[in-house]
Amino acid sequence: MPMDLYFDNAATTRMSEAALEAYIRTERDFFGNPSSVHADGLKAKKELERLRASVASMLSVKKECIFFTSGATESIASVFSSLLFLEPGKAIISRIEHEAVASWLPILSHHGWKTEEVKAKGGFVRCEDLEPMLTPDTKLVGVMAVSNVTGAIEDIASLVRTVREYEKTSRRRIFFFSDSVQALGKIPYSVTDLDIDGASFSAHKVNGPRGIGLLYLKNPSSFRPLSSAGGQEGGKRGGTENLPAIAGFEAALAEWMSDAAAKQARIAAINKMLRNTIASCGLDMLSPEASSPYILSFASPYPSEVFVRMLSDKGISASSGSACSNNAKGESEKIMQAMGIRSDKARNAIRLSFSNDTSDEDAAALASAIKELC
Ligand code: PLP
Repeated sequence: MPMDLYFDNAATTRMSEAALEAYIRTERDFFGNPSSVHADGLKAKKELERLRASVASMLSVKKECIFFTSGATESIASVFSSLLFLEPGKAIISRIEHEAVASWLPILSHHGWKTEEVKAKGGFVRCEDLEPMLTPDTKLVGVMAVSNVTGAIEDIASLVRTVREYEKTSRRRIFFFSDSVQALGKIPYSVTDLDIDGASFSAHKVNGPRGIGLLYLKNPSSFRPLSSAGGQEGGKRGGTENLPAIAGFEAALAEWMSDAAAKQARIAAINKMLRNTIASCGLDMLSPEASSPYILSFASPYPSEVFVRMLSDKGISASSGSACSNNAKGESEKIMQAMGIRSDKARNAIRLSFSNDTSDEDAAALASAIKELC
């Protein structure tokens, strides 16, 4: 009987029982439209605002600064499409961004924007590479907080500081955006401490439901979305709010964030044990040391699709790359090359990713399977 071991949590996680219960309860008890002015609508609106306040407090941000969306891809689209209202300028993103961000460069170029990608040698964007790219017409800089391919943790604090220093001379404001999907609850992370202007988050990476996410905006009043039809979410995101999914997100996050440091430490121990296993098999690690404990990439002895199948035959789900897009393998190979990983290693890349429901026993079974296969 093959096992049923899931190690593709950077792609998506199982919904927790608490999230499922909150989802069902909210769908049943708060079915009114939060925009309706009758009692059922008002009840739903009150619940929506309660959930927003709770999520905001877990993220240590003001509740006026968060907007529920259908996921990180929409949050990102909202920020990048809002640029189309501005006089064209320059947008700089890193070479290792998720497709949800990178796919905006050709659109911006088409609309007369200059677009540039800052390199990320070894997986990390460096201030000395970003600084000379900043010009008076730069309007946006986008660097993800944690790579979904290798787990590399970017030094967002220093990058923001570099941008803020430059602003003092140019006297022009630059919007610093950080796709923070893989950082939420997985590393110590605070958008306010980092002084970033906008960030995207997604519920389904932290045992919440799919199709719900967040856009954080430091100064929402100066933000003009491409569409605000319906006027929901303070006019920043139109469309009837997905209240049960928001409740599921809140419940998942509450569970995830309680004693988060201890949970992260347990996952870090699993990560370390697997790193040792991989090293003892003579395989190359692709995740740098300064990575999220929740993601571990290594070069297997075979092309990744072969090794993924070998693991799958043993009942183990892992990923060949960043399996959260339909072109995951091509995308992650491109990103690994940008990081300076040799193409033969990138072709054999396996990504293991963990969640707080990953058990020590499952991790031990995975380690034995890797040893056996290698
Ligand atoms: N950004 C990163 C870094 C991701 O890992 C993902 C995962 O799919 C996304 C964006 C897209 O998130 P969502 O599925 O919520 O649109």
